[in-house]
Amino acid sequence: MRFMIDEMSEKVKQAGAQVESKTPGEIRKIEVARQEPGGEKKAVKITAIEVCAWFGEKQALHSVNMDICEKEVTAVIGPSGCGKSTLIRCFNRMHETVSGSRFQGDILLAGESVYGSQVDPVAVRRRVGMVFQKPTPFPTLSIYDNVAVGLRLNGTRDRKTLNEVVEKSLKKAALWEEVKDSLNKPGAALSGGQQQRLCIARALAVDLEVLLMDEPCSALDPISTSKIEELIHELRQNYTIIIVTHNMQQAARVSQKTAFMLNGKLIEYDVTNKVFTNPNNKLTEDYITGRFG
Ligand code: ADP
Ligand code: MG
Repeated sequence: MRFMIDEMSEKVKQAGAQVESKTPGEIRKIEVARQEPGGEKKAVKITAIEVCAWFGEKQALHSVNMDICEKEVTAVIGPSGCGKSTLIRCFNRMHETVSGSRFQGDILLAGESVYGSQVDPVAVRRRVGMVFQKPTPFPTLSIYDNVAVGLRLNGTRDRKTLNEVVEKSLKKAALWEEVKDSLNKPGAALSGGQQQRLCIARALAVDLEVLLMDEPCSALDPISTSKIEELIHELRQNYTIIIVTHNMQQAARVSQKTAFMLNGKLIEYDVTNKVFTNPNNKLTEDYITGRFG
């Protein structure tokens, strides 16, 4: 299931702008947006090697292998309980924080194992940050402190440096204009969509390279959702993004690659356009056309 990047670039070149996908009883239009026209060759940022994961006796992932390209958006789709969250939580060593959990295999970040004996999982989580379905700002901390918290934990005390990083991170998260006059208000005072962007700003303020997003828009209204999608498009110029989503339209809109999972296995992984218009696997087709899930 691991694909060659050269082969992938060819497929990316062929990706079209607008496609139709037949569903039982209707024609659903899925807009496949923002493919790379030039088919630029991308380096691999994360490599999953024979990844298996358990919760107690229950095996949640079965030998997942995949290469995730840098500065792209990879969507992970599949029915509830298929292992999407577990997979991305293996990428930044969060799976092991669940008691009774077990991991087997390896995850390489830019070619180096994040499971090496010398590796500090906290450092991994700064490089591979995560946002969740429910925004998780520190509710009593101010907007400013929510963004500055990671730097402070790293020992940064200099006010000027903190100010600069807070402003830069909030700008990158497309939130600065909305909060610049209320930086001392608590994070919990913001709307759900703003809180989600605050959490993204918090991740951006440290040494972020990869942003994992676990259904980041599931609790948001359509306008907040489109702001996050727009932000994802901006951020992928500089960061590698992996987004779990239940919404196939969203996967098609925001991602360049799509991974389809079922029962803890990676069933299909390819250029998004291909997965949504001409999947290789019958199971993928059944899922994207709404026959189950
Ligand atoms: P998804 O994100 O695709 O909905 P998950 O990765 O959350 O799926 O779950 C995969 C499987 O692992 C499911 O069968 C789920 O019930 C199980 N699981 C997830 N989290 C836990 C947990 N904390 N304890 C026990 N089982 C879990
Ligand atoms: Mg999940």
